[in-house]
Amino acid sequence: MSENKEYSFFQSVERSFDKASKFTSWEQGILEQIKACNSIYSMRFPVKMDDGHIEVIEAYRVQHSQHKSPCKGGIRFSMAVNQDEVMALAALMTYKCAIVNVPFGGAKGGIKISPRSLSTYELEKITRRYTSELVKKNFIGPGIDVPAPDYGTGEREMAWIVDTYQSLKPGEIDAAGCVTGKPISLGGVRGRKEATGLGVFFGVREVCLMEDVMKKQGLTLGIANKKVVVQGLGNVGYHSAKFFRENGAIVVSIAEFEGAIYNETGLNEEDVFQHRKKTGSILNFPGATNLKNSGDALELDCDILIPAALENVIDGNNAPRIKAKIIGEAANGPLTPEADDILAAKGVLVIPDMYLNAGGVTVSYFEWLKNLSHVRYGRLEKRFTENANINILNQIEELTGKKVTESEKEIIAHGPDEIDLVHSGLEETMINATREIMDIWKANPSIPDMRTAAYVCAINKVGTSYAELGIFP
Ligand code: GLU
Repeated sequence: MSENKEYSFFQSVERSFDKASKFTSWEQGILEQIKACNSIYSMRFPVKMDDGHIEVIEAYRVQHSQHKSPCKGGIRFSMAVNQDEVMALAALMTYKCAIVNVPFGGAKGGIKISPRSLSTYELEKITRRYTSELVKKNFIGPGIDVPAPDYGTGEREMAWIVDTYQSLKPGEIDAAGCVTGKPISLGGVRGRKEATGLGVFFGVREVCLMEDVMKKQGLTLGIANKKVVVQGLGNVGYHSAKFFRENGAIVVSIAEFEGAIYNETGLNEEDVFQHRKKTGSILNFPGATNLKNSGDALELDCDILIPAALENVIDGNNAPRIKAKIIGEAANGPLTPEADDILAAKGVLVIPDMYLNAGGVTVSYFEWLKNLSHVRYGRLEKRFTENANINILNQIEELTGKKVTESEKEIIAHGPDEIDLVHSGLEETMINATREIMDIWKANPSIPDMRTAAYVCAINKVGTSYAELGIFP
């Protein structure tokens, strides 16, 4: 990964915003309010480490916008965390939620630690202390600000957060909604884990089903047989690769920080994952060629490139060498503004992060709704739907004198489980968002790229919401 020297991450987001705001008609004051980070909580707290020494931990929570409540966004654990990064990611959350019609403001949290080099006990202490700092300042709660997993965090950390919150707020009936991405047993929703990867797949698939767009990119319609390169085998990369492969694409290369592997006949992400777990490296996977330099994978000849790791991995240096026809930004901010300009000039279609990876927050929204309603999705209607379907089928069989097989009967009768409803809600969300952005772009051909169209979509929605809220005197 190379450093983006010219602009900080937050400045890059502001730059993209300014580029898009020219295609809207909001007055300057509204635009400035949409852009601004409303609340920034920078904290330091001491933690006694396993060897007895005291470490001062640097951490943040940024609430970019409260145009809708609560604020929403993940918490990342990484040594690269700094205030500017958290601000940028919080801003992207505001725009992301607006585009996919998830009624939240944007937020993000970060703790500057290297989770791999800490013990589980140390991580638990840091996470719990961070949560209690958030509680003290009223920076967390089901109606205030709802964290979630991000880079370096997952279900385990969310479990520590909800437990800490509940112990500090006894009797709060909706406390489970203070964080999402929880284990199912603690109020999580089925389908959250794969949500971002599945959302990436749904978004890219929708673009690949647009005849005019595919013609322009010189590609055939649909996902089948498209050559895909995935950077990152974390939760997002793994699941993106899985859904592309299951739907007929050929995942020719997977990259991780230690290197990348290539096989033109396709890689199975689960086998690669197991190989990495066993050997400690993605390299030397049976049947695949090693690429020693992880970044080389980004420059491979392919149809679709999915950067699903960290920000700024494609910049002014390597952008001219990118051969993919479509880039699906699964990570947050994988392209620098220079890369954006170079790729747009080359005719590469960049499907932007801030809506393409919105699957996570969309399903988080479903989890939060589940927590507030205190009932599992499908519990009320599953059996009813099954009975209704069986009745209709029985009638058809009686009227036609023909019978379907038992397995067909099962498929027809099936009433929705939680996972079915979550996946279909996500599919609907991603398809609608893709079409909405493309319609904005088509309606105004002077908009230079899809990211700008997505920003226009976001600015108009947040602008409307600020305008309707009214401005306090
Ligand atoms: N961290 C994820 C994101 O960047 C998910 C956020 C959430 O679920 O609130 O979109």
